[in-house]
Amino acid sequence: MNLYQDIKAIVQAYWVTLRNMLRRPVTIQYPEQKRVPFERYRARIVLTRDPDGGERCVACYLCSAACPVDCISMQAAEDENGRRYAAWFRINFTRCIFCGMCTEACPTRAIQMTADYEICRRDSLSLVYEKEDLLIDGPGKEPDYNFYRHAGIGVVSPRGGNEDEKPPADVKSLLP
Ligand code: SF4
Ligand code: SF4
Repeated sequence: MNLYQDIKAIVQAYWVTLRNMLRRPVTIQYPEQKRVPFERYRARIVLTRDPDGGERCVACYLCSAACPVDCISMQAAEDENGRRYAAWFRINFTRCIFCGMCTEACPTRAIQMTADYEICRRDSLSLVYEKEDLLIDGPGKEPDYNFYRHAGIGVVSPRGGNEDEKPPADVKSLLP
């Protein structure tokens, strides 16, 4: 019985070798030849805009909290409508492992991954991308989504002025 299994294992191993010898090579002459990645390939990260051209990121820090290697940092600010945005936003691509956790955590579809895998550099500091390097002019993979059309805060009405929205708490009234 053992002899039969040994022979079977040897035949299977030779079969795998033979099958792969007849396959076309999978290597290509990069960078002269470029491979087209799959549509959902996870590479360079971008910050997108909503269909009206506004920045989608509301500086909620969720992507930063979800990132397992802690490579996203930012500073939140508020505009005159009470709308939050990232005063600065930074991703250190030398640490990023392209896991996609940040994109899954983002409630506004602001942070998205693209298929651009050509971000290797000799100078590692140039892989620290600032907001101006990350922010693109378009909506990316979610062309119609606008977070503030759902949340409504401070865009068409002041805080607390939208349908089903409670007035903001007076924080001073919460003091002991
Ligand atoms: S893809 Fe993963 S490692 Fe890279 S920034 Fe997002 S959460 Fe962090
Ligand atoms: S990119 Fe998304 S998850 Fe990250 S801070 Fe902006 S809105 Fe929040």
